Amino acid sequence: MSERPLYIQVNPRDNVAIIVNAGGLEPGAEFSSGLALVESIPQSHKVALENILEGAPVVRYGEVIGQAARNIPRGAWVSEELVTLPDAPSLESAPLATAVPPPPPALDGFTFEGYRNADGTVGTKNLLGITTTVQCVAPTVEFAVRRIRAEILPRYPHVDDVLALTYPYGCGVAINAPGAEIPIRTIANYARNPNFAGDPLVVSLGCEKMQPARLTGAGLPVLHDEPWLVRLQDEQYFGFGDMVEAIMNLAEKRIARLSRRERVTCPASDLVVGLQCGGSDAFSGVTANPAVGYAADLLVRAGATVMFSEVTEVRDAIHLLTPRAASPDVATALIGEMKWYDDYLRRGGADRSANPTPGNKRGGLANIVEKALGSIAKSGSTAIQAVASPGERVSAKGLVFLATPASDFICGTLQTAAGMNMHVFTTGEGTPYGLAAVPVIKVSSRTELAERWPDLIDVDAGAIATGLATIEGVGWEIFRFILGAASGRKKTWSDYWGLHNAPALFNPAPVT
Ligand code: CA
Repeated sequence: MSERPLYIQVNPRDNVAIIVNAGGLEPGAEFSSGLALVESIPQSHKVALENILEGAPVVRYGEVIGQAARNIPRGAWVSEELVTLPDAPSLESAPLATAVPPPPPALDGFTFEGYRNADGTVGTKNLLGITTTVQCVAPTVEFAVRRIRAEILPRYPHVDDVLALTYPYGCGVAINAPGAEIPIRTIANYARNPNFAGDPLVVSLGCEKMQPARLTGAGLPVLHDEPWLVRLQDEQYFGFGDMVEAIMNLAEKRIARLSRRERVTCPASDLVVGLQCGGSDAFSGVTANPAVGYAADLLVRAGATVMFSEVTEVRDAIHLLTPRAASPDVATALIGEMKWYDDYLRRGGADRSANPTPGNKRGGLANIVEKALGSIAKSGSTAIQAVASPGERVSAKGLVFLATPASDFICGTLQTAAGMNMHVFTTGEGTPYGLAAVPVIKVSSRTELAERWPDLIDVDAGAIATGLATIEGVGWEIFRFILGAASGRKKTWSDYWGLHNAPALFNPAPVT
C-alpha cells in the first residue's frame, strides 16, 4: 500500500470517501486534493469531503446512504453512528425495465474441460453425493462414507470424492406448511447438482415426514433402472452392518459409473457461476465486487449463466436493479422476491437493519444501504434475464437473480441447488469459507488481507484501490481463474485445505 495519504471517491457527487492507507491515517494527514484530516480515521472508513450539516444527505456511489446525525466538519470521520438509516426504496414505485442494457458483444472462443452430464449440464468436479431424506440417517451415511473413502475410492482415482449430503430436516417439521416447499426443493435440486452428475442416490429412514416421493415430486430425477434408494427400516436389513453394506454396494455401482466419465472441452456458456460476498468492508464495493462484476459481464458475453443473490443486500439498491430487468415481468418477479422477504423479516420481528454485521461495521460500512450499493456491483452491467426463488433450479442463461438470504452458507447451499458449477466469493474482513460440492474462488477486497491470508485468498482485488491494478485486469484474472478451476487445472485454496461448509437449509416454515 502507498505511504502517501490516499482516499477513494467513487462518484463525483459523493461527499464522503474511504481511506485507503493500511493502518488508517492520523490528524493532519493531507491529501493531494488539499483535504486534511481533523481526526484519525481507520482504513476503509469514511472521511467527509466537505462540511455536512445535520440532517443533510451523506452521499456515496452517487446515492444517499443516510442523513448526518449531527454537523460533520470537512476532514472528519463519518463513523457509523453519524449516519442515520434512510427508509428502504419503495417497491410500489420501482421503475420496471426502463433502462434495459442492450445485449453485450459476444465473447467467443473460451472453453473449459468439464464433465458433460446426461441432462445437458456440465460438472466441474466428479463427485458422488449421497442425499438423505432425514437427519436420523445422517450418522449412518457419514459412517458409510468414511468406509467408502477408505475402501472403495482408492480403486477409482477419476472420482474426486463421495459426500454425505445431510440436513437437520426431514422429520419434526411442518412438512405441508407454507414455506416448507423451500427446504424440500432445495434438497431435491441440490442432489441434482451437475457436479454429482445430476444422478442422485438417496438414503431414507422409512417413517420420516419427508418421504422419498416428496423429493421426486420436487424434481429429484430417477435416471435409470439401477436402485437409487436405500431405506434403513426395510426388513431385509439385519442390523447396522447390513445397512452400511447396502449403502456401500449402491455407492460402488455409482462410483464405477462416475469413473468412466472424462473431461471434455465445453464452451464457457456451460458455466453456471454463483456470486456471493461475505465479511464485506467499505472496499468491497470499489475493488472486489466491481472486478467480479466485470468478470460477470465477460461470462454473460460468453453465454454463461451468472447468479447473484442475497436479498437483504440488494433490497436497498432495488431501484437501481429493476430498470435493468430484461422485461417488466422480470422486474415484477424481482419486486415479488423483495416483498416476500420484507414480510418474512417482519414476521420474525426483524428488519433490514439486522444485516450489517459487527465485522461489516468495523470494515467501515455504516449501514445496509452502503453495503447494498457495494454489493450490487457484483452483478456487472448486463440485463437481468430471469429471477428464481429460493431452492429453485435455474435454467436461464445470462444474468439471473436467485433470491436467497445473505447468510454465506445458506446462500451457497441455495446456489448449489440452483445448479451452480463455479462459485466466486468476495470478502473484505476475510472468511475461510468453502463448499465441498463446487469450487469456491475467494477474492479479497484489500491487499492486506491477501498478504495476511496468502493460503486462503485466491485473487487479490485490493491493488485496484491504489491504482496498481485495474477493475478490468482483475476481472479478466477472475474469469481465467474460473475457467482454470472449472477444468480441474487450478485448485482453489478451500479445496486445497478441504475447507467445506456443510449444506445449510433455508427453512421459513415451522418446526414441530
Ligand atoms: Ca453472504
